Amino acid sequence: MEAQVKLISIVIPCLNEQEVIPIYYREMSGIMNKMTEADFELLFIDDGSRDGTLELLRELSRQDKRCQYYSFTRNFGKEAALYAGMKHAKGDYVVVMDADLQDPPEMIPQMYEELQRGEYDCVAARRVDRRGEKQIRSVLSSLFYKVLNKISKVPLVEGARDFRMMNRAMSDAVLELGEYNRFLKGIFGWVGFSTKWLEYHNVERAAGETKWSIGKLMKYSLAGILGFSTLPLSLSSYGGIVFCGAAFLAICFLVIRYLLWHDPVQGWTTLMCAIFFIGGVQLLCVGILGQYLARTYMEVKNRPIYIIKENSEEGRILGECLE
Ligand code: UDP
Ligand code: MG
Repeated sequence: MEAQVKLISIVIPCLNEQEVIPIYYREMSGIMNKMTEADFELLFIDDGSRDGTLELLRELSRQDKRCQYYSFTRNFGKEAALYAGMKHAKGDYVVVMDADLQDPPEMIPQMYEELQRGEYDCVAARRVDRRGEKQIRSVLSSLFYKVLNKISKVPLVEGARDFRMMNRAMSDAVLELGEYNRFLKGIFGWVGFSTKWLEYHNVERAAGETKWSIGKLMKYSLAGILGFSTLPLSLSSYGGIVFCGAAFLAICFLVIRYLLWHDPVQGWTTLMCAIFFIGGVQLLCVGILGQYLARTYMEVKNRPIYIIKENSEEGRILGECLE
């Protein structure tokens, strides 16, 4: 009896990617035609693009039945797009990858082969260098991985991409984590499962521009730290204890000095420095608390992670919330 043909779902988040989508599709078609042992579905998620992306996706889905698209009402972010895509993926295996060919499609056959052996649940790509990327970005990114690995229990592999192929079980586990503030790299680590890492050299974007400004990356890093570690909270309470101890010693010292030497009023500079310093530390700690509270607030509201306005199956669903 012939083995059942497996379905591979590929999830591709797209924000203003009109330049690269045709190139991506051409490359991917080559791979799909070569991999005759599997069926494919390509799920493009239009994350509120303002260029011709949606037009292109409509056209693609008309031409090729394997291509489907889901279009958001606005930009909800890459994490939301990946979540939406994974939610709609029907495959035995699910791949997440960028549209800009920085995740080389030629790695897919190798990933599939590895997974077929059944030893691993997931095969993921790891960049061993960051050639062609801005130096400042590489340095900040490396620092972020070091910090997060130190303070969080979830292991994060440096250079790890979102690009990976996982089996149904792992994909379902990832979808179980329906949190609003999503940090997929952490979620992949959190769900466990065995992952094989394939190394590759950085590839530059095929066309178009990166959607990540330094500000956006900072926000992303903060989401990672706050989402997967409560250490900043503990640090502020430990800081409080240290400051109480220091205050106690200072009080003893001042009282004794007054009793022994009847010191006249003095030390305005010291006083002002202490007030500013402690004021700063307090604000910082309240700020940390605020960050966690804000995230809790957003989670408690239980808002949908994304809203779809149009898809390839039903066409325009104007404002209807699918979740
Ligand atoms: N992306 C998205 N929504 C966003 C930002 C990015 O869907 O808000 C998509 C983008 O279209 C691309 C992928 O996420 O397919 C990675 O983005 P990009 O290549 O700009 O990031 P970089 O590779 O520079 O980290
Ligand atoms: Mg890219």
